Amino acid sequence: MPSITNASIAMSPLFLLRQIRDVMAGAATAQARLDHVVRIIAAGFSSEVCSVYLLRAGDILELYASQGLKATSVHQTRLNMGQGLVGEIAATAEPLNLADAQLHPKYVYRPETGEEIYSSFVGVPVLQGGKVIGVLVVQSKNAKRYSDDQVEVLQTIAMVLSELAVSGQLVDAQEIKAATGGLTVQQLSGMRMSAGIAKAVAVLHQPQLVITDYVATDINQEKARFEQALLSLQESFDQYIQNSGLSDDDEQLQIIETYLLFTRDRGWKARIDEAIGTGLTAEGAVKKVQEELQAKMNQLASPYIKERIQDLEDLSNNLLKVLLGKDIAPQPAHLPEAFILVARSIGPAELLTYDHTRLKGLILEEGSMTSHTAVIARAMDIPALAKVLGATTIIQPGDTVILDAESANVYVRPGDDVEAAMDKHLRHYAARETEYAGLRDLPAVTRDGVTISLNVNAGLFVDSKNILQEGVDGIGLYRTELPYMTSADFPDVEVQRQLYAQVYEQLPGKRIIFRSFDIGGDKKVPYLNPGEEENPAMGWRATRIGLDHPGILRTQFRALIQACTDRTLYVMFPFIAEMAELEAVRRLFEQEWAQAAQKPPEYRIGAMIEIPSLLWQLPTLMQRVDFVSIGSNDLMKFLFACDRGATHMAGHYDTLSPVMLRVVREVTLAAKAQNVEAGFCGEMARKPLDALALIGVGVRSLSVSALAIGSLKAMIRSVDLAELTVYMDYLLSSSEPSVRHWLEAYAKDHAIVL
Ligand code: PEP
Ligand code: MG
Repeated sequence: MPSITNASIAMSPLFLLRQIRDVMAGAATAQARLDHVVRIIAAGFSSEVCSVYLLRAGDILELYASQGLKATSVHQTRLNMGQGLVGEIAATAEPLNLADAQLHPKYVYRPETGEEIYSSFVGVPVLQGGKVIGVLVVQSKNAKRYSDDQVEVLQTIAMVLSELAVSGQLVDAQEIKAATGGLTVQQLSGMRMSAGIAKAVAVLHQPQLVITDYVATDINQEKARFEQALLSLQESFDQYIQNSGLSDDDEQLQIIETYLLFTRDRGWKARIDEAIGTGLTAEGAVKKVQEELQAKMNQLASPYIKERIQDLEDLSNNLLKVLLGKDIAPQPAHLPEAFILVARSIGPAELLTYDHTRLKGLILEEGSMTSHTAVIARAMDIPALAKVLGATTIIQPGDTVILDAESANVYVRPGDDVEAAMDKHLRHYAARETEYAGLRDLPAVTRDGVTISLNVNAGLFVDSKNILQEGVDGIGLYRTELPYMTSADFPDVEVQRQLYAQVYEQLPGKRIIFRSFDIGGDKKVPYLNPGEEENPAMGWRATRIGLDHPGILRTQFRALIQACTDRTLYVMFPFIAEMAELEAVRRLFEQEWAQAAQKPPEYRIGAMIEIPSLLWQLPTLMQRVDFVSIGSNDLMKFLFACDRGATHMAGHYDTLSPVMLRVVREVTLAAKAQNVEAGFCGEMARKPLDALALIGVGVRSLSVSALAIGSLKAMIRSVDLAELTVYMDYLLSSSEPSVRHWLEAYAKDHAIVL
């Protein structure tokens, strides 16, 4: 079949694009600009007709502008998705190029347009974010097929037009979102990384990159820019692989190598080159190819393909970043007052670049309970979920999002009913906060006069700030590993000393228990490579690393001794399995202490109880420490051989199991016998009912996140501890998997505030 050649485009593609760009940049109304653009395209294609259809709510394609069709049909002619040729293009996101449109089975006759006299038809989708938002059509009386080059040029024009289409000036921006399936109420679910509930607007960690210049001034220059950007991207990947020390079978390495393969993919490169050839800038061309691939692959359901889309999207975004020379993290000044961050994945260092006073929650498509980011989110005290599939595509920037990490649900663009229910919930939370504020200056004493020491878990300056206001005794667990995890190299004595000194400064007179680093395992640091570990949580971590590399531990001890000037230094060792380990680490500390020129008046040594083997060494342990702290996060995991981070295991074993509580009672009894303080710093203590059980089995010092202090104080002040202890003794003989219901009933009957 003969085809219309390029020569029959009345002007060169570049000239055509420039004309369109100039009109689009003009001051006329959006409708007037669109009307003008269709006239230019029709002329440029030496065709009688050029029309633009835009997607409206309800999957309707409305004729928005036309040169050649009857003027009265504009804004009148509407087609459903899949209806007619235009509907077919929208439904498949594929161009249609026909010599005789009326022969196509999908052709529908719309008399109001007067299009029956036109034979040839070429239509392309207008894409945004891989979704069809409109259709651009050129028609001619001449029954000839348009050339592939012309289809390509038309696609390029559609790309440029998409900016006008989504500007919100033609179709309301909210309506576009709704029409592309972006605005429906959605409920997503994931896995809890950090507890809490928040409602705020969504900010996407990698927002769509904004391209301001689509039309090339010099095509050769744009081709060179693209080559250069690709080269520098390849170099940065190569460098990353060299520096990362990743092993061959490391998944991360495989992902990067896939990226590298993409960058060398001739087809992909050729498509971008071709798009530049039609007059786009390098960034415009990358975006165009990205859009087309997304649209094509969105039609497929295969999860494998979907993953590849993500890979390509990441690659294109990286390339765009290089081309635009931009830092894509939104600047704090542009962030909303309160926002929930949505990302595919985010590193701890990146998370820390966001203004923590505005950051109210975190939603990740990837991530896990034990990732570094989860540790940071908990330290920041923001609700956070991992494994929320589809979050970055379903949640749009600016959407209202309710993040309920308690039930691991996300409500996107919640309806009035959900919002009202959640608002009630949040108001209830807020009212309780006010109530707790009234308790700030009152002691945490039970009704029968027993004082419970309330402390906070910390690990970043961000949480040190509010601690004083909460009326607490001090920091029961300072996780020193966070600065290790967020720096590229092992932090030296001075860096660490300054960090610890600042903590002392922020909390004058308070007791601060510094835990020596618990890096390794799930808290990987870039400068220590444990090799392949099947069970990192049970692997080379914490004190185990410190004992294999005593220099690292001694550096930390030196910094801790130097930083503490005006009070007793409290140091706690994590992940102790054997008394021999405790003795060895203690010796290292004492060596540093002996050699220190300047030191605090005295020190106290403590151990975390988080590995079950220590439970059979309690009497000897208590002789060699000044205090212990139970870490239920690890202890529960090892006691029940259950990784609670795994979704399908969630809820299998209760923290209020009589077994767990008996263990805690054993520890408190052994500690009491030697006059050693037994504290508790695991997550479970933040819940008032769990904390009630803990004090009922002898714990007298709790360390929890700052936000939980108020509710614990209210609970403690409403308890008769002697009575509770008797009841707990009774409950501990139960062979049920949990005593939760009994304890709840007890609390209700005894008016205990939970
Ligand atoms: C614990 O294991 O309970 C604990 C407090 O330590 P981390 O959560 O830092 O492992
Ligand atoms: Mg632990």
